[in-house]
Amino acid sequence: MIRMNRVIIVFILAIVLAFALEGVRHMDSNGPVIIAEPWDHSPITVYIDDKDVPQHYSPSYREEVLNALTYWENGGNGQLVYRPEFQVVETDNADILIMWVDNLEKDVGASSGVAGFTRPYIVNGRFERADIVLETGNYEGYAWRQYGDSSMEYIAAHEMGHALGLGHSDDRSDIMYPRYNHRDNLNPLLFNSTRYILLALIIGAALMISYHGTGWLRYRKQRKKLEDDVFSDSEGDGKNE
Ligand SMILES: [Zn+2]
Repeated sequence: MIRMNRVIIVFILAIVLAFALEGVRHMDSNGPVIIAEPWDHSPITVYIDDKDVPQHYSPSYREEVLNALTYWENGGNGQLVYRPEFQVVETDNADILIMWVDNLEKDVGASSGVAGFTRPYIVNGRFERADIVLETGNYEGYAWRQYGDSSMEYIAAHEMGHALGLGHSDDRSDIMYPRYNHRDNLNPLLFNSTRYILLALIIGAALMISYHGTGWLRYRKQRKKLEDDVFSDSEGDGKNE
């Protein structure tokens, strides 16, 4: 009984913790800032790799990336504590490197639904550099669906937001809302709130199962021992399984 109570307490604690974390997140309802000022210099240099491009690359995509840069230079979604300034350069040792593949799922093994991802290299709490990989389209079944220019601008602006230190937003109208399922190598705190609750429920369920599992095993062992004791004299063979 004491053991059962302990399991229930752990289960309740897990749920309380999940809601507490949820509360912490909501204090910053427009999306957690991962690193407030990731770049220690300005302007931030950007290299847009439109030379080594995949088959379905459209020449208009470069323009959409430039539009995405302008979006953030003009204040973006209002969540940055600084005003970024970009300088597009032609050397690939830039701060931010933007490149394309045709399909992240097929070409780099990303999970389904991923349209772009940002990989910052963090040194002493600052970004040393960041790579952004965008895909040119997606498969709907076997049919190739090329991203139009407005989709490309949206995806580029979203990924650029990560490269400027922003995490995801809960607000559907925010550019940092994960409309496409991005694979983000940013921070484990990017897990959305439902996943915390789910995690708590899974932990709780696992505890319940392990409790009942061991309890049942112990009961079975006890019963077997009892049966052994009772029957071993009369039948001379305690093994009943
Ligand atoms: Zn994202």
